[in-house]
Amino acid sequence: MTGAKWVDEVYKGVLRTGFRVRRRLFRGRSPFQKVEVVETAGHGRLLLIDGMTMVSDRDEFIYHETIAHVPLCVHPRPRRVLVIGGGDGGSVREVLKHRSVESCALVEIDGMVVRASRRFLPGTGRALSDNRCRVLIEDGVRFVRETSERFDVVIVDSTEPFGPAAALFGPSFYKDVRKVLTPDGIVVSQAGSPFYEINTIRNLMAILRPIFKVARPCLFTNMTYPGGLWAFTFASKGLHPVRDLKPVRAKGLKGLRWYSSDMHAAAFAVPPFLERAIGPSLKGRESR
Ligand code: SAM
Repeated sequence: MTGAKWVDEVYKGVLRTGFRVRRRLFRGRSPFQKVEVVETAGHGRLLLIDGMTMVSDRDEFIYHETIAHVPLCVHPRPRRVLVIGGGDGGSVREVLKHRSVESCALVEIDGMVVRASRRFLPGTGRALSDNRCRVLIEDGVRFVRETSERFDVVIVDSTEPFGPAAALFGPSFYKDVRKVLTPDGIVVSQAGSPFYEINTIRNLMAILRPIFKVARPCLFTNMTYPGGLWAFTFASKGLHPVRDLKPVRAKGLKGLRWYSSDMHAAAFAVPPFLERAIGPSLKGRESR
């Protein structure tokens, strides 16, 4: 394949993942980060931020179905949802599949990500124009600190814990998230790779546990992230991610390609190496 063009994600200086590029669709530098969209030969369109893969047409459904339907199929009646980050629109698209959802606020710090996604990633970006979606270009940390609004579900669909996203992995942010959640509130957050970033997951769990009654990691796999296996965290004021799952809710969702009640339950099976790293879930408190 001489002369073929590639875009490489170099991850933590130890892993390089290359995607063969058909054409470059967008490249820009915002006050926060470098934003690119490329058409690849094998993964559809790919959004990169600071050279890191964010969203690919080929596998984004796994991430976005999991991050949205896990909390929305546990909450008894989710009506108001807040997505922090998620400027590509994929999480919003899945949230809006729930008929009970009356409004979804997207708080994305970088308007360039929203503009590039709307124009070059229609598969996810189109959802941002839904009349139930309100797009706010601002810092999610400040939004939860200052808003008087209340939400049934908060989804933190952020980049890795550095730059503008660093504070989204801190205790004061999650104390504010708890404040904006309703009594049955649930927050699900992007937490990184159990293989390469186990400290991030451990630290996030150590922050969540004193603030929320229930806190558990939630695992899924996808093609374009380093190492394949990836983690979210689930935290709530009392609802349990598996015992309070409403399987009938999933049945009402059309066009799912990854999420099901079985996949939901499986996502909360934590391998021993991760359980040891984060410490056993506090059975007494979480088992209610
Ligand atoms: N699925 C991707 C992942 O797992 O890394 C995340 C996709 S989404 C594009 C991540 C978004 O978080 C970026 O657009 C970034 O601008 C946004 N973000 C980072 N820090 C933020 C903050 N403090 N407030 C709001 N949005 C933020």
